Amino acid sequence: LVSRKWRVRPTVLDLGDGVYIGEGQLSIAAGPCSIESEAQMEKIMDHLVENGVRLMRGGVFKPRSSPYSFRGLGMDGLKLFHQMARARGIKIVTEVMQVSQVEEMHDYVDVFQVGARNTQNFNLLDALGGVDKPVLIKRGISGTIEELLSSAEYVFSGGNEKLILCERGIRTFETASRNTLDLNAVPILKEKTHLPVVVDPSHGIGIREYVAPMALAGIMAGADGILYEAHEKPEEAASDGQQTLNFAESARLIQNMRKVYALR
Ligand code: PEP
Ligand code: MN
Repeated sequence: LVSRKWRVRPTVLDLGDGVYIGEGQLSIAAGPCSIESEAQMEKIMDHLVENGVRLMRGGVFKPRSSPYSFRGLGMDGLKLFHQMARARGIKIVTEVMQVSQVEEMHDYVDVFQVGARNTQNFNLLDALGGVDKPVLIKRGISGTIEELLSSAEYVFSGGNEKLILCERGIRTFETASRNTLDLNAVPILKEKTHLPVVVDPSHGIGIREYVAPMALAGIMAGADGILYEAHEKPEEAASDGQQTLNFAESARLIQNMRKVYALR
């Protein structure tokens, strides 16, 4: 069902209020790795509004490699995130980690993110097949392109056709970067499926200085959007500060992404 053989026309998702994701426009989703506080959200939302960005990413349920790391503000954080975003015309992309959260989160989310550690959580994918909200599925940490497509097929065949695929880097033998951003996946996915394809260069390379060039490369490779981490003070971020852009870097990247997209 996610194949171009089944549907030739590219899928474009309508998030409401003039926000679309899919072929024909560049979708930019920026925001902190973790939602931390009202003050933090206010700053980043001002930054997004100033730069004409309509989508904000930010986790309230965080899948951390260590149980002692910050694990997110949970539903209280999401409710505040939703309230503040609504007031500014911003749409929310946030991670759902388990089946029981799907219903709880539903009314406060614009796009459910399935994280790389949950790409093959088939119960979660089944549950998301039953909701009427877009789902962004990240490629698994050691997942193949075919496995990502198969995960998308779970949600689609369950009845939810509102899907976005995300290349976020995979684990390889290379240790110089956090992950290896597999830009090969972009043209391959674009050819194989009718679904929107986005790139997450923050998790893809994991090093702040290299996030912008990889974002631009992702656009030239054919991505319909870029999802990246931004924070007023990356060095103070509760998670993933090392791969998070500050507002000056983020503003420059937004401008450059638009220029590069126009060259395609
Ligand atoms: C995130 O988006 O902050 C995140 C945890 O991503 P991933 O699942 O790709 O590691
Ligand atoms: Mn992160």
